Amino acid sequence: MSIRVKPGTKVSLKNYDPDNTGQFSSEEEVAEHLEELRREMGRYQRLLYAENKRALLVVLQGIDASGKDGTIRHVMTGLNPQGVNVVSFKVPSEEERDHDFLWRVHKVVPRYGDIAIFNRSHYEDVLVVRVHDLVPRKVWKRRYKQINEFERILTDNNVVLLKFFLHVSPDEQKKRLEERLRDPTRCWKFSLKDVEERRCWDEYQKAYEVALTECGTKRAPWHVVPANKKWYRNLVVAETIVATLRDMDMKYPPPSCDVTNVVIE
Ligand code: ADP
Repeated sequence: MSIRVKPGTKVSLKNYDPDNTGQFSSEEEVAEHLEELRREMGRYQRLLYAENKRALLVVLQGIDASGKDGTIRHVMTGLNPQGVNVVSFKVPSEEERDHDFLWRVHKVVPRYGDIAIFNRSHYEDVLVVRVHDLVPRKVWKRRYKQINEFERILTDNNVVLLKFFLHVSPDEQKKRLEERLRDPTRCWKFSLKDVEERRCWDEYQKAYEVALTECGTKRAPWHVVPANKKWYRNLVVAETIVATLRDMDMKYPPPSCDVTNVVIE
């Protein structure tokens, strides 16, 4: 259902319809299924924790108002907060800028048994950084390879990595930014920077296409999620996470001692 980028293919976002809702036409139709997926995610999380051998890292990327926060709110609600860490990557602090770009990322990779959700990620270093030339071209150019090598280290060391690009249309972004402006409970989220960034729409699309092309690997695949309809976006992300956890074929570990004759007095 989700659109997994095949390694080695050149991604053109024009070929992905952000309005796609698969075989569904309304939120009501999928509500129950989404609820079941959330429960299933919770069950797999308990297994992951008990097994304590692997970790799951979910990367969420997308332009402003593409729904990264909403996805976390709606999809991850079935998880036990104890085993989940949500990390939002902002403009790097002075300390972060004094290190290589992956330093702040590696520090927050989940421990075995845990799940981490990255709201933005190391990909900003080839997205916003590329669009605004925040470092010289030759520096961001080599980062694609460095990202692949970094992600390879993670996946070789039992971190299962899932990367989602939330794909919205320019019209949908406009609608959402206007809604933010009008809604007093969400107006605080609006920033003039969003308007400036919107002017760079084409540059961002191009930067995403290159990132999805260069860093869509077999071990750490990218998924292009049709995200104009929030309910379908949630369904696709939840389905993909659950399918990944299911494929991990996890087992509860056996008891650490013979429990057959243990009596609790
Ligand atoms: P949100 O993720 O909800 O939009 P903010 O409004 O604080 O949160 O936006 C975070 C900002 O940080 C974004 O504009 C993003 O491009 C920027 N950012 C994240 N990582 C980097 C980076 N490595 N270099 C420069 N800017 C970054």
